[in-house]
Amino acid sequence: MPRFQPPHCPWDACPSRTDSVPFRFQKRGFYSGRQQRRIQRFWCHGCRRSFSSQSFKFHYRLKYGRLHLDFWPLVVSKVTLRQSARMLGVDRRTLADRLLRMGEHARRFHRLRLQEVAARGGLPGVFQLDELETFETDRRLQPVTVPVLIHRAKYFVVHLTAGTLPCRGSLPPRLRKKKEEREKLFGKRRSQSRQGVEACLQTLKEVLPPRQPAILQSDRKKIYPSVLKSVFGAAGFQHLQECSKRKRDRGNPLFPINHTLAQMRDNLSRLVRRNWGHSKKRSWLRLHMWLWLLWRNYVRPITAEGEPPTPGMLLGVTSRRWNARELFRWRIFSPSDLPDLQ
Ligand SMILES: [Zn+2]
Repeated sequence: MPRFQPPHCPWDACPSRTDSVPFRFQKRGFYSGRQQRRIQRFWCHGCRRSFSSQSFKFHYRLKYGRLHLDFWPLVVSKVTLRQSARMLGVDRRTLADRLLRMGEHARRFHRLRLQEVAARGGLPGVFQLDELETFETDRRLQPVTVPVLIHRAKYFVVHLTAGTLPCRGSLPPRLRKKKEEREKLFGKRRSQSRQGVEACLQTLKEVLPPRQPAILQSDRKKIYPSVLKSVFGAAGFQHLQECSKRKRDRGNPLFPINHTLAQMRDNLSRLVRRNWGHSKKRSWLRLHMWLWLLWRNYVRPITAEGEPPTPGMLLGVTSRRWNARELFRWRIFSPSDLPDLQ
């Protein structure tokens, strides 16, 4: 096995990471871990702290080092967090912590791949956008919108997020009272649909080949033309608006995005309609969706026969199919980032 060479200091606050101080380190002996007998220890000149090759691992300082690998197949196949915890024999909070780390890791992994492909020339093609509707805690009081942007031909998911939608109208008295109580505490619930769509289009802007207009296909929702204009400028895009009333079959021009949203509903416990696994909070839903994106783009082959390629390979975003052990091997240290919804 080749000797481990630290690429940078693992401590976020180190001057070699925050300032232009060069990263210099020296070897400082060995220690023995649970599985590995000799682990090299290093010492950083910049922050005068020590670290080891273990500091760069995904499971760094985690009590159950394998838990994410066992959880991975469950999290993308409709098993709820509660049920997964029972199956894996761990506390629900332990599993929630792991979901938090895995979801954030998935987001960073995908962003890194997008940055790499943008540097290699970007993603050409036609893209499709739509919003899936779900809710947090209460279907009528706290609806949620999930804007999703995909590459039309290769079904590669470029971006997704989750934002609030206003309460539904004509509520029964019991819910109306609840709504008023909530508004006193949190203010009026507003639509974040526009910001969510904007976040998708900003990501698209980053990965488009230089000087190429964005070609976006969507339904005829009124806000889309103005969001496109605000992100790409009046001449920077082509918008193909389709009627959403058409039958949702393969002949429908929006089939790829309809199919993607249907798959999300089928794969994610939090999105399955009318069950008890729905999300209690949209931040958890977002984490869960990032993991689904990872699986959908980089792990799951596009054909039912189970042979690669994956959507990520078809688009040249990555050259191979990833497995869980590889996906969750190394920590990903904060790549440059776009703000997301709160
Ligand atoms: Zn350091």
